[in-house]
Amino acid sequence: MINLDAFFFVIAGISPKVKVLDEKPRRCPVCGLHQAYYKRVDHYLSVFFIPILKVKTGEPVIICARCERTVSESGSAPAAPVQGEARGCRFCSKDLPSDYTFCPHCGRRL
Ligand SMILES: [Zn+2]
Ligand SMILES: [Zn+2]
Repeated sequence: MINLDAFFFVIAGISPKVKVLDEKPRRCPVCGLHQAYYKRVDHYLSVFFIPILKVKTGEPVIICARCERTVSESGSAPAAPVQGEARGCRFCSKDLPSDYTFCPHCGRRL
């Protein structure tokens, strides 16, 4: 008797497929070489080893080709400046983004 579950597993299965999102190498903070690439690992339902249906879209990650470490985008690049440098209201001293013209707490013009 044929075990259908095992048979199905052989012809169809979920397999990962690595997609390179950006060919431009980035610096790997672990080994210091520009061999880290922006990639995404998607999971496909494969039948006879042919991916036919994308079942899961992976998170974009930077993976070093040399040490195979996953590098976080902010790991090597300088941290992005905090948008709208916080500034306190000079009337009620509540924290506000600097692009506010009026304080939403006390309603005064800044
Ligand atoms: Zn590396
Ligand atoms: Zn205020």
